[in-house]
Amino acid sequence: MKTAAGSTLIFNGQLVDGTGAAAVPHAAVLLQEGYIRYAGPAAGCPPVDGQCERIDARGGTILPGLVEAHFHATYFNVAELQDLDIKYPVEYVTLLASVNCRLLLECGYTSARSGGCLFNCDHWLREAIESDLIQGPRLATSGREICSAGGLMDWNPGFRKIGMEGLVFIINGVDEARAAVRSLVKDGVQWVKTYPTGDAAAPDTNDHHTLCMTFEEMHAVVQTAHNHGMKVTGHCRATQGIKNALRAGYDTIEHGTFMDDEALDLLLARNVPCVPALYFEKASVLRGPEFGLSQAVIDGHQETLEGGTASALKILRAGGRIGLGGDYGFGWNPHGDYAREITFFVREVGFSPLEALTCATKTGAEILQRGDELGTLQPGKLADVLVVDGDVLKDISILEDRSRFIAVLQGGIIKAGQLAQRIPAHVPGIG
Ligand SMILES: [Zn+2]
Repeated sequence: MKTAAGSTLIFNGQLVDGTGAAAVPHAAVLLQEGYIRYAGPAAGCPPVDGQCERIDARGGTILPGLVEAHFHATYFNVAELQDLDIKYPVEYVTLLASVNCRLLLECGYTSARSGGCLFNCDHWLREAIESDLIQGPRLATSGREICSAGGLMDWNPGFRKIGMEGLVFIINGVDEARAAVRSLVKDGVQWVKTYPTGDAAAPDTNDHHTLCMTFEEMHAVVQTAHNHGMKVTGHCRATQGIKNALRAGYDTIEHGTFMDDEALDLLLARNVPCVPALYFEKASVLRGPEFGLSQAVIDGHQETLEGGTASALKILRAGGRIGLGGDYGFGWNPHGDYAREITFFVREVGFSPLEALTCATKTGAEILQRGDELGTLQPGKLADVLVVDGDVLKDISILEDRSRFIAVLQGGIIKAGQLAQRIPAHVPGIG
């Protein structure tokens, strides 16, 4: 991905630098050649010359580009489980995913870690984004997911005589677990997404207290993935599934819904980040009836919402790491609503705005394994910056309204927001 030439001064705003430090009023951020040179009180900013571009934050907020820590580029208007894999052909899924990547960036998210995708779309989206052919987040990729036979993701009944080739490797035992990971190695993905547990979406056979992989299978996934430099995560709701994942060496935990004290100790022992993805549960409860979800499914989502909320607060208060994002792309939780996650954590989980923003920036970058170059506004880091018209610490929900974004920058280049309008459309030639 290209970085900006020259320098840009962002002035007349408060600075929320993503480290968790208190906001700096009357701040300035100086970008040079795509990297941050200075971020702090305006009075301490190095002098700039007449060539320097200027962005007036209009008394609003200057913060790091947001990080979606559980992004599904290939999910679109999913209304039932089957929509995840057999609704559209891969050609159309690829186009939709490209649109979703662009939308994520417009919503202020300059980076994302995938929570799983169809076929190998993520890898090639990343390729196109990094080559500046399309616009989107700096993407940490996943690929086809891994689940044991009969588990949550193995939902097509046998009489349909179709597998799950595009979405999931259905495995039996450690040999097939290793074989699945080895296929992903060849696909070039960075993260292996697994299904240690079920979900409220499947109340009859794979509910949120059901295990969908054995410890041995999970351990085989981790050993094989780590051997090839890949990271492993998993959909973990049931308490025992969380513990299995942590003992097997998972690098992050998705959801971490029903955490008991032992699970929390295991999480903290290796400081493993957890991505609760709670607004999806809230949306499932609020809008489930409209989309025909059964009462059993809605009740399960309510239990998940309550358990996940308590666990997320427990993790943060115990000094653990929480990443924000999650599962946008369902009919009742559509792409574009990403920042509702942040609002939910402030208004309904009990995080302070600064805590939630640190989770949505610094911790997100750490999940991407890029904490040294992204996630905070500090000298030497890439200039991925969000400039918002308004005080997001007073009203966190401003982040849900992208019409309030003055600029979304990646590597110092304005990619979205009001100021992007003045930039001619960049259509690179493909030679
Ligand atoms: Zn997900």
